[in-house]
Amino acid sequence: MRYISTRGDAPALGFEDVLLTGLATDGGLYVPESLPHFSLEEIRSWRGLPYADLAFNVMYPFVEDAIPADDFRTMLHDTYKVFSHDAVAPLVQLDSNEWVLELFRGPTLAFKDFALQLLGRLLDYVLEKRNQHVVIMGATSGDTGSAAIEGCRRCEHVDIFILHPYQRVSEVQRRQMTTVMGDNIHNIAVKGNFDDCQRMVKESFGNQGFLGGKTQLAAVNSINWARIMAQIVYYFQASLALGGPDRSMAFSVPTGNFGDIFAGYLARKMGLPISQLVIATNRNDILHRFMSGNKYEQHQLEHTLSPSMDIMVSSNFERLLFDLHGRDGAAVKALLENAAKGPVSIEDYRWKHARKLFDSDAVDDKTTCDTIREIYQRNEYLLDPHTAIGVRAARNCRRDPAVPMITLGTAHPAKFPDAIAESGLSVKPQLPAHMADLFEREERYTVLDNNVAEVQGFIAKHWKNA
Ligand SMILES: *Cc1c(COP(=O)(O)O)cnc(C)c1O
Repeated sequence: MRYISTRGDAPALGFEDVLLTGLATDGGLYVPESLPHFSLEEIRSWRGLPYADLAFNVMYPFVEDAIPADDFRTMLHDTYKVFSHDAVAPLVQLDSNEWVLELFRGPTLAFKDFALQLLGRLLDYVLEKRNQHVVIMGATSGDTGSAAIEGCRRCEHVDIFILHPYQRVSEVQRRQMTTVMGDNIHNIAVKGNFDDCQRMVKESFGNQGFLGGKTQLAAVNSINWARIMAQIVYYFQASLALGGPDRSMAFSVPTGNFGDIFAGYLARKMGLPISQLVIATNRNDILHRFMSGNKYEQHQLEHTLSPSMDIMVSSNFERLLFDLHGRDGAAVKALLENAAKGPVSIEDYRWKHARKLFDSDAVDDKTTCDTIREIYQRNEYLLDPHTAIGVRAARNCRRDPAVPMITLGTAHPAKFPDAIAESGLSVKPQLPAHMADLFEREERYTVLDNNVAEVQGFIAKHWKNA
């Protein structure tokens, strides 16, 4: 499988290089040159498989040039056995033909574990083979950092440095990062805000001289192709559990950077019958505004009760724009260069096509809280605020009550106790057993000034072979 850039002007790469590369050299994102396609008969034959075996069938075409089948199978079994539920991604029924797919049974209680647990193992495998080492550098306002740290904690060929804004992440989220002990794990609290952290990461990728040429930076943000790939699997799994592929399914996806729902779009292209995909956003609704009015326009960032969806632009949307433009990289490049300067639209027929592919809705904090409360009172089931947005959008956008509507449950409610409290519920979401002692664990992190030279100096001094 070869991978090409959405901006059409970077070399095609194989899986190993795509794994180690962030953005393409032309500023685009890598996508597979062609997708595997599975017949209904083939998909049907996967019914009842353990999650890891299903994952193998769905993903192997993407990696087969780089990884022998047995090695990949072993890696997948190791990856998904750390999840706390035997089904890995269990389904919970809310109402007639209405379901939540619980994607928060991994080590950090958010769906990002599905991809980042695998990504750590993939990186180590490829780096071992190449006798190479990388430094992962990333900025986080919460979920991604902890999932990335958990994913890399056992990697021998990876050091990971995660920057978070000092005293500006929730205590649960900070502790999920800073209590993971390992010589290759480095938490940096920057005396600044999240944008400062992100800017330092960006600057460092642009000029890696501070590493003295002895190692290179790698990225684990949601534009990494391997993360999208891993997320395709649970669409197949949920569908098979509810009678697919012999009936089609609808999915509602709490959306920020468009990674998770793009995986659903790919699952459909690979042959899975999906009749509806709902983009569910919070007040940071650039995607909903585009879907409703064909205008792609950045607004100010709003801080909401669903912080993992607080975005101004949606980075993986570029991958969809590439398909909407008949995979014309030059057209995507021109469009996104204009989008950086002001609002843009696409040709009407392309936009109408996008509206056939997706429905969308935006949900504000008040309605998020109302939904958490309603579902708890009726079902005694606690939704986290991100998932609540998905459930609300699913109900608002539903087309056919005979089609199972599955909302992706992207985080465990115990990660967001403030939203639960704000819903007026007196119930306190409990952390699962493996994390019950989170608040007693030892923490380790370094506080640094909001100064890129200081941060780079720290990294240069503390990676493994420095
Ligand atoms: C990251 C995240 C999202 C958004 O996913 P995207 O792939 O960026 O659209 C939604 N909910 C939670 C809890 C997340 O951590």
